[in-house]
Amino acid sequence: MFSPSVLPDIDRHPCLCGESSHPYVDHGRRLFARSGGYTAQLFCCTACGHKNFTPPPPPTALNEVYSTAYFNDDAERTLYAQRYAAPSFDMADDLAVPLAQHAGRAARVHEFGCGTGLTVHHLRKRGFDASGSDWSEEAIAFGRKMGNDHLIHESPTRPADIHDLDVALSNHVIEHVNDPIQFMRDMAAKLSPGGVLLLRCPNGDGAIARRMGMLFDPLFYYPHHIHYFSAYSLAACARAAGLKIISITATSRFTPGLREAVFPPVFGDDDDLLRAASTAFESEELQLVAGLPSHPAVSVDLSLTSPAPSARSLETYDSHESFHLGGPWSYDLLHETLEGCCPMEWSAEHAYWYFGRCFINDHWMAHYGTEYRPGLSFVAPSDGTYEFEIVSALRHAWLPEVRLIIDARRNETRHWIESPAPRTFIRRASLATGERFTIAVENPHPTEQKLVTLVRARKIAG
Ligand SMILES: [Zn+2]
Repeated sequence: MFSPSVLPDIDRHPCLCGESSHPYVDHGRRLFARSGGYTAQLFCCTACGHKNFTPPPPPTALNEVYSTAYFNDDAERTLYAQRYAAPSFDMADDLAVPLAQHAGRAARVHEFGCGTGLTVHHLRKRGFDASGSDWSEEAIAFGRKMGNDHLIHESPTRPADIHDLDVALSNHVIEHVNDPIQFMRDMAAKLSPGGVLLLRCPNGDGAIARRMGMLFDPLFYYPHHIHYFSAYSLAACARAAGLKIISITATSRFTPGLREAVFPPVFGDDDDLLRAASTAFESEELQLVAGLPSHPAVSVDLSLTSPAPSARSLETYDSHESFHLGGPWSYDLLHETLEGCCPMEWSAEHAYWYFGRCFINDHWMAHYGTEYRPGLSFVAPSDGTYEFEIVSALRHAWLPEVRLIIDARRNETRHWIESPAPRTFIRRASLATGERFTIAVENPHPTEQKLVTLVRARKIAG
């Protein structure tokens, strides 16, 4: 069973901005992640809002993830083959705009962490002199099989031999690496004197994280995402890497999901709210354009607004209760143990409720796939009236609803959960010793990682 005691009990560690990070708190608890045998805790900087897992997964674990665990099923291959054959690819279309703006339509672009090279392929079709490299040998081999000859396999110890680039491009990679400052330095070393680094990553201080906390953020997962950048920490990282910041913005790529998540649909609603959110860097994706100190562009000064609320509420944390969650590596555990409901038991040792060996951890559950119907089954330790606070939200804004079933003593109620905007249900039940209160999920769709449900249980009367 998971034990928070395996982690060093530290209160702070240095942030990449030069200030210090403290334990991040969500819904009154610290956040722990466990995956592939590694456990880490999420920290947050009070100065720049940067969040990261500490300790980071060892390089051997990352090698395992990126050399084999990615890109290993037929459905994925089929999808990528279709995208290769399609006339265009939305990611490349979207990137083509800033690429042309900062480096021209025929720029020499190299994408670091290009996966199967889809973006490279479609950028070439648009006239860019694009190439790419990736740690995954399989992904590169697949891209080459698709006819893309502009891909190179590289590894952390054997970087790609590339130089004099107009653009060093990186799309959702920096959040995966242990040392983001070194990552930017390595990219900067490949630039021509007038070249630019163009980097995109999830916004770890985006609208969903700010309004609901990281548990509900669709881009929050360990061990893949180690760092969660704010606009300010991304800027700090670039400066620490010796780069000049030319622009730092939020993109609108996740706008439909964001809209669902943070602004309940209102008739006549328009894009103004979203634009306002993006302006405040609360969109779900950040974009940095940076150059070498000799680059002729004028360096922008990022005026700081207040950091994330999570960074301001550290004093509320409760070290007696701990959250943790699995990641995509936990599929096996799910296969092994999820048959109907998992028992929820009180751990006197750790003073929290736990759910055994499965993807239902502590007071939180995530739902994967259609073949399972996971649930939390609370077993009353003594006669009394208990109150349950159930908060549920979809993790993927663009996927359809799932059903949450609340069964208080055979008095079943069903609710459709339709968006990442969390819905809260309060239920009370008088239970006899050993009696169960069940919360289950029914998912009619063959998709993964659908729903997060947070449950708090407390006894309100004996
Ligand atoms: Zn910081």
